Amino acid sequence: MSEVSPPPPPPATLVPCPLCALPKDPEVRCPSCGMTPEFGPDRPNPFAGATLWLMAGVIALLFGATLLVVALTA
Ligand SMILES: [Zn+2]
Repeated sequence: MSEVSPPPPPPATLVPCPLCALPKDPEVRCPSCGMTPEFGPDRPNPFAGATLWLMAGVIALLFGATLLVVALTA
C-alpha cells in the first residue's frame, strides 16, 4: 500500500512589489526590501479614492479655519 502525500499547495502568483518592483508573493513580506503586504493588489490603496478626498477635505477645512481666524483678528 502506497501512501499518497497531499499535493503541494499551488505557488502563489507573484506580483511586483510596489516599492522595489521585484516579483513577490502578495501575502508575505517582500524578501528584498521588507515591504509589508498592506499594499497588496486586493487591498485598498489608502492614497486613492475616498480617503484621499477625506484628507484633502480636512486640509481645506483647516486652511479655511486658519484663514477665518487670521482675517478676523488682523
Ligand atoms: Zn520590495
